[in-house]
Amino acid sequence: MKDATNLIANEAKSIVQAHLDRLGEPKDNTLSPEVKKEKFEQIKAELQKNNAVLVAHYYCDPEIQELAEATGGCVSDSLEMARFGRDHPATTLVVAGVKFMGETSKILSPEKTVLMPTLEATCSLDLGCPVDEFTAFCDQHPDHTVVVYANTSAAVKARADWVVTSSCAVEIIEHLDSLGEKIIWAPDQHLGRYIQKKTGADMLLWDGACIVHEEFRSRGIAQMKALYPDAAVLVHPESPESVVDIADAVGSTSQLIKAAQTLPNETLIVATDRGIFYKMQQMVPHKTLIEAPTAGEGASCRSCAHCPWMAMNELDAILDVMKKRDQEIFVDPALAERAKLPLDRMLNFTANLKR
Ligand code: SF4
Repeated sequence: MKDATNLIANEAKSIVQAHLDRLGEPKDNTLSPEVKKEKFEQIKAELQKNNAVLVAHYYCDPEIQELAEATGGCVSDSLEMARFGRDHPATTLVVAGVKFMGETSKILSPEKTVLMPTLEATCSLDLGCPVDEFTAFCDQHPDHTVVVYANTSAAVKARADWVVTSSCAVEIIEHLDSLGEKIIWAPDQHLGRYIQKKTGADMLLWDGACIVHEEFRSRGIAQMKALYPDAAVLVHPESPESVVDIADAVGSTSQLIKAAQTLPNETLIVATDRGIFYKMQQMVPHKTLIEAPTAGEGASCRSCAHCPWMAMNELDAILDVMKKRDQEIFVDPALAERAKLPLDRMLNFTANLKR
């Protein structure tokens, strides 16, 4: 393993905490079937009227994913969301996810209107990687190739050479390592460390973290395994190293759904946002899915395996934004043009991987 240096992102943790404090306590979104049906019909009519399509992330609440499917939209990871939005003929994209996903859609489809149920939905990784600090860090290491995770602002992407998602990060870093390039990786330290371990690449790691995945604990999962000895453990690589180390399968949301289908185990302990259960259970209706335990409600956990920002994508907010068209994503065109280069690099690389 080559040397790695971790950079402490100044004040990143307090920025994230201040944002969480403003959100308040999680709400109960349970709806009766009648109310849900009525809202679905209203939103469907608005989508048609606006020539719009709903693009939702796996971590949204189940009814949002159901709505996207029922209206001809898509439910997927951030890479596929970006591709789907870019290639769909709709003139308006309604992105149910977090802000960087809306920005990515706008960068890839500048001619389209991109709306989000709320512009307040962000991500601790994005918040923890302020562009000024990150630029200063990159400037200190001009001989490094800058690779950033999709969970970053448009401004941070514009400073990067490559953007990656968790579904293609290992392959892209392997490729860069084979060219002998030294890499700056940001912002997720756990994913960075996982990739570094897998590829042996020379990587400088930013020290951001996802507030959802950081809460999983190997001890709790080991206790769960003792209760279900035949279960397989599925882990997203934004989780701490000790959790990744005890996994039977490690991967992005799409890769974990695939693992649920291919692993022989009838019981699966899943360490990622519980929003994934909607799609995963669809794919393996006969299997038992169990949420991996987190540090618990008494700890710093504000999500308990559900992203508080993803949870802001409510049906009422989608209906509202369709009517008012007020939560629109704008990205400065010059910045968007610069940020599109590393995004296109990723999309072209992954398209070649598929061939
Ligand atoms: S689950 Fe984590 S990485 Fe995903 S949007 Fe929420 S805070 Fe960001």
